[in-house]
Amino acid sequence: MRCLFCKHPTTTSKSVEHIVPESFGNRRHILAKGVVCDKCNNYFSRKIEGPLLSHTSFRNLRAWYQVPTKRGVMPHLYGFVAGTDIDIGLRLGPHGKPEIRPERESFRKQLEKHVSSRGGVSDALVFSREVTPPKRLMSRFLGKMALEALAQRFLIDLSLFDRLIDDPHYDRIRDWARLGNNFKDWPISQRQIYPEETLMRHAQTGEWVQAGFGYDIFMNKRRETFFAFCIYGHEFVINVGGPSLKGFEEWLSENNGISPLVERIGASLSERDGQYYLEGTYEVHSGVQFDRKLLGLG
Ligand SMILES: [Zn+2]
Repeated sequence: MRCLFCKHPTTTSKSVEHIVPESFGNRRHILAKGVVCDKCNNYFSRKIEGPLLSHTSFRNLRAWYQVPTKRGVMPHLYGFVAGTDIDIGLRLGPHGKPEIRPERESFRKQLEKHVSSRGGVSDALVFSREVTPPKRLMSRFLGKMALEALAQRFLIDLSLFDRLIDDPHYDRIRDWARLGNNFKDWPISQRQIYPEETLMRHAQTGEWVQAGFGYDIFMNKRRETFFAFCIYGHEFVINVGGPSLKGFEEWLSENNGISPLVERIGASLSERDGQYYLEGTYEVHSGVQFDRKLLGLG
């Protein structure tokens, strides 16, 4: 087999590839070893996913919903003490009590001094809950997931998978994800398609659970391919064919602005007493999936 990204033989590769990072709660969407070589796997984790997941946007999103890292560690909410440059982390202590810790050991003295001078810090902490990931990094991350989501589908037939590697049509997004040197930028769409706290039905038990992440591949009528990803209602879309969002904008206006991950697959959003619900059934590989912490795993 050859690597999806560098096209080199992967006979000695040992690692499996998570299409969506484990730290976003993904345990099921995995490509077998050999689909992505160890070198590319390692590159994405160090240069793309690592910096993106530790960016305040996603770090605080994961902390807020307590999604553990792949090593089972709960991320803490990242913030700062207003009017200072003291970075802090908020996490749950041993007895479930919130604990404020300096982000770096070098801030400890400063933080202690500040707390004692004010008799407490509760009125002076700032935690950002905005999801504004760095555009370029997010675009390359979407490019990586897009190609992998295509591979996941094409792997049912090895000749289809070979075509994904050999067809020059996919080289642009491949090089954008893996090298990032072929375009100045590759625009992506970002919007909030439902509130973060929205619930959906658990596929097996039918209980209402927090909606987590989802992704899907879809096409417009000109057969341009798009990849959509969402996490806690934040939807991101990239054009697999090239750095333009025109085709997606067209698709949106033809479809009354619906989400490719909700209404397109027959689901809908409803509201009762201020709580939002995603109604409908979701197929695996399309639409949103439940949050693993409500499975009693997190
Ligand atoms: Zn590779």
